[in-house]
Amino acid sequence: MRCPKCSEHKSRVINSRQGREGREVRRRRHCEECGHRFTTRERLDEKFPKIAKRDGRREEYARGKLEGGIQKSCVKRRVSEEAIQRLVERVERRLAEGGEAEVASDALGGFVLDELRALDLVAASRFASVFRDFKSAADYESFFAAQAEAAEPPQSAGPAEPAEPPER
Ligand SMILES: [Zn+2]
Repeated sequence: MRCPKCSEHKSRVINSRQGREGREVRRRRHCEECGHRFTTRERLDEKFPKIAKRDGRREEYARGKLEGGIQKSCVKRRVSEEAIQRLVERVERRLAEGGEAEVASDALGGFVLDELRALDLVAASRFASVFRDFKSAADYESFFAAQAEAAEPPQSAGPAEPAEPPER
């Protein structure tokens, strides 16, 4: 990191601090050449990995697209827009912190599902149905069975009902 005063590259980090809800890291630096102290900011969202699709294509991570999918899953559920925003931030942090050059879209879906499960099981099942391509009611049933096995205490998401009535 180049010192803004003397342009030398010999600076060392004195401390690092997270700002803006963990989406920015501020580093206080000390120039070993001239003693100048300065701050650099690192935006985590500049380091998102590329998303690797199942068909082999790569695309840029797009927050809007992710948000849209989650909002769709939460239609008519008691999940606030604020809760969705916080969820997206946690997913983004996980994406950025992994430090990978690319992440499979399935893995990204898994991150979302981990978060959504804790928020609302029905919304999670809807999201899973899209990204795991559920074909039948049996897929929903095994999804809910797996959730019951995970057996984490539900967080007042209301009674869990399948997104579609199971057919028998
Ligand atoms: Zn300097």
